[in-house]
Amino acid sequence: MTLLTSWVESANSADTDFPLNNLPYGVFSTNSLDPRCGVAIGDMVLDMAAAENAGLVVLDDAPVFDVPYWNDVMDLGPDAWKMLRLRLMAMLTADSAEQSAVAALLIPMSETRLHLPMVVSEYTDFYSSRHHAVNVGTIFRGAANALPPNWLHMPIGYNGRASTVVVSGTDIHRPNGQIKSSDNDMPTFGPSQRLDIELELGAVVGTSTDMGTPVSVAQADEMIFGYVLLNDWSARDIQAWEYQPLGPFQAKAFATSVSPWIVTPAALDPFRTSTPERETELLDYLKEPRPMLFDIDLSVLIQPPGGTHEVIARTNYKTMYYSAAQQLAHHSSSGCAMNTGDLLGSGTISGPDKGTYGSMLELSWGGSAPLSLADGSTRTFVEDGDTMILTGRAQGSGYRVGFGACAGTILPAVSFP
Ligand code: MN
Repeated sequence: MTLLTSWVESANSADTDFPLNNLPYGVFSTNSLDPRCGVAIGDMVLDMAAAENAGLVVLDDAPVFDVPYWNDVMDLGPDAWKMLRLRLMAMLTADSAEQSAVAALLIPMSETRLHLPMVVSEYTDFYSSRHHAVNVGTIFRGAANALPPNWLHMPIGYNGRASTVVVSGTDIHRPNGQIKSSDNDMPTFGPSQRLDIELELGAVVGTSTDMGTPVSVAQADEMIFGYVLLNDWSARDIQAWEYQPLGPFQAKAFATSVSPWIVTPAALDPFRTSTPERETELLDYLKEPRPMLFDIDLSVLIQPPGGTHEVIARTNYKTMYYSAAQQLAHHSSSGCAMNTGDLLGSGTISGPDKGTYGSMLELSWGGSAPLSLADGSTRTFVEDGDTMILTGRAQGSGYRVGFGACAGTILPAVSFP
């Protein structure tokens, strides 16, 4: 696959996240426009509400773009998603006859404010990187019992909070919670001292299912509307005290950040790869009938207060043991209904080596090996004023399909009422 050229000049640069090959979906506003659906192309945003109003893109009898979410488009189903992408390609391709009509609907991205691209119905987070699971298991339980006995048989997950999923750029207060140190019989209450990030990819479920209706892995793959970068902020000290026996609760409920652009499976299709070889054969309902992971380079950056950002980890989504389609099939397998706008976190994405780990917990190995930053300071976990940034891109020949950034700055804890 090579670059598809557009009459939008900035979309033809090898350095843009948003060439014609990508066409990701977001929600934007400006000083004069209320939040509405938009499509990124180079350094511009196509106002989809205006395009619909002008009769350039018509997907349904009723308008679907003059709203601050893509859920209405998701509801129309995969045939409409395909039609939309073809229509956008025709409008934005280099030799389009509609250039002058469409050019009037482009707004410089620098003049926009980006919002959460969808109403998040529910948020489920998984634990599907083998390297991450082994690292965390080794830090807490030792190498002999690193992987839980169920891990090679199913994607482990928990039900998280949709209410605190926020768009990149939203500041996050350090959470308060119960913390229990080993040298004290009683827990204390106060700001987390081990605040962490989790580098993840989020899958946005586009097609709903009825209660009692499991889907196959192949069907699940067709139900995914797109992918975003996801930072599953985690308070490790709160988590360590509260997680048994029902799993994470307040340690992860305070915030989850996502990148503002939903990148479609159609854009990522040239980058499909298979999940790694199985150590233990999966049960039939979880077997992957075709490649369902993607080759996406991922980075974690830290920007200390007043400093410049630097990369502290690089990894790739193709190292995951379970794909989003397998997670979705497993999620529906009991008869659990899935909703349009459900968000599935991949789980922290870690590679095999130091420098490829997707959390501070692993990068500082439980806090025992501080990272040295360019400004001379060190980090074991995230400090007040730090901005944590995730980036992702699938690298093609002379172009890339990028996600934009998923950033969040940590503010001091609020005082407890
Ligand atoms: Mn997570």
